[in-house]
Amino acid sequence: MDADSYVDVPKDLLKEIERLEQLFSIDTAKLKQITDHFVNELEKGLRVGGGSIPMNPTWVMSFPTGYETGTYLALDMGGTNLRVCQITLTDQKSEFDIIQSKYRMPEELKTGEADELWEYIADCLMQFIETHHGDTAKLEKLPLGFTFSYPASQNYIDEGVLQRWTKGFDIAGVEGHNVVPMFEEALSRRGVPIKLTALINDTTGTLIASAYTDTKMKIGCIFGTGCNAAYMENCGSIPKLAHLNLPPETPMAINCEWGAFDNEHKVLPRTPYDEMIDRDSPRPGQQAFEKMIAGLYLGEIFRLVMVDLHDKQGTHIFDGQDISALRKAYSLDSSFLSAIEEDPFENLSETADLFQNRLGINPSKSELELIRRTAELIGTRAARLSACGVSAISRKKGYTSCHVGADGSVFNKYPHFKSRGAEALREILDWPEKTNPNEEDPIEILAAEDGSGVGAALIAALTLERVKAGNM
Ligand code: BGC
Ligand code: MG
Repeated sequence: MDADSYVDVPKDLLKEIERLEQLFSIDTAKLKQITDHFVNELEKGLRVGGGSIPMNPTWVMSFPTGYETGTYLALDMGGTNLRVCQITLTDQKSEFDIIQSKYRMPEELKTGEADELWEYIADCLMQFIETHHGDTAKLEKLPLGFTFSYPASQNYIDEGVLQRWTKGFDIAGVEGHNVVPMFEEALSRRGVPIKLTALINDTTGTLIASAYTDTKMKIGCIFGTGCNAAYMENCGSIPKLAHLNLPPETPMAINCEWGAFDNEHKVLPRTPYDEMIDRDSPRPGQQAFEKMIAGLYLGEIFRLVMVDLHDKQGTHIFDGQDISALRKAYSLDSSFLSAIEEDPFENLSETADLFQNRLGINPSKSELELIRRTAELIGTRAARLSACGVSAISRKKGYTSCHVGADGSVFNKYPHFKSRGAEALREILDWPEKTNPNEEDPIEILAAEDGSGVGAALIAALTLERVKAGNM
């Protein structure tokens, strides 16, 4: 659908649709240019001195064989939920059992005091153990994989110095500090019988969990509240670790933290709306790429466009209506956009209901069409930019054929995200058109195994094996 196909839409709105199309569309040449720059930035991040993409070594130093065994706890501190799991890796190759509980992550905690955060987490863990193990006094300490999905520097697998909060978190006194002692103190104050074995990123967990069941998996991605990827590098290609004299062939998973790509604003086609998001975020100047792609921001970009069109001289949208609900920052999440994109185009009645119920606005038919087109543009841009990151890692590693494991609410729930991403990969990597629609693409982005549950458990298992073998 492009501007030419809107028949009854008034001129002022048509002009806006055309303007938004220009702002948000990214053609093949631009995708390629972004990808080229991305490859350079990945390399730069591995060098001494680095670049804007952190490229954090994770101390995850092998893929699983499928024969790992044992029982582990996993804690996932995500943006929306706190999840505690107990995973048993069984004797059967690549099989596991899992029990889990989810706790709400109270919104106030995200911008509150550090102590409150750690105590809340310790309480949830204690509750989980009491429910599933009864008397905690008699327990031996259980090994835990802690999925802490924020950029962290690690000299060892059981430490994590928070580089900066992302995804709207803003808790004082944590950035620049190792979070593990803070976490462990809260555990010991409550007498929680747990030993932290590994601190991991959700992308690394996704990579390892996916590779447990599919050996073609080479990259792990999250397209959720935030976005990021991890892949396996060789130590010989990580100049910033050269001082450790590790054998060059030693594998080392790298958590890219690619949300920080192009913080210098060299290639990404940012719109005035992206600039507003950044300016009003708790960390302006950070996560430039993430702010154009991740679920936390998609609804907000859309909201900013709508408010701008309403307030603009000469553009008539929601004229005479009370848009105060629409003026509330972050009031629309990506599921709001998903619902708009899922609505059959014939009458857009779901969209009309959404605007009525959630915002108290009654859009006209033309306004509904503009709303739909705006959602499409924002969702398509996110998927196409994501493909630049996947292409860049594949190019850097010389992968011409592999699987990419992806997780997160945007990947799993946002309509057409997968097909739009696949189409962009095809354009960037110059694949010929498929002759048979059932044929696999050379690089396929597939739904991942549970990274912050099973992945965290596997990494704990791999770490304990490595310690037993006496290697770091
Ligand atoms: C964080 C990453 C994380 C990603 C997906 C980003 O905001 O910085 O560490 O992997 O979100 O959860
Ligand atoms: Mg998660």
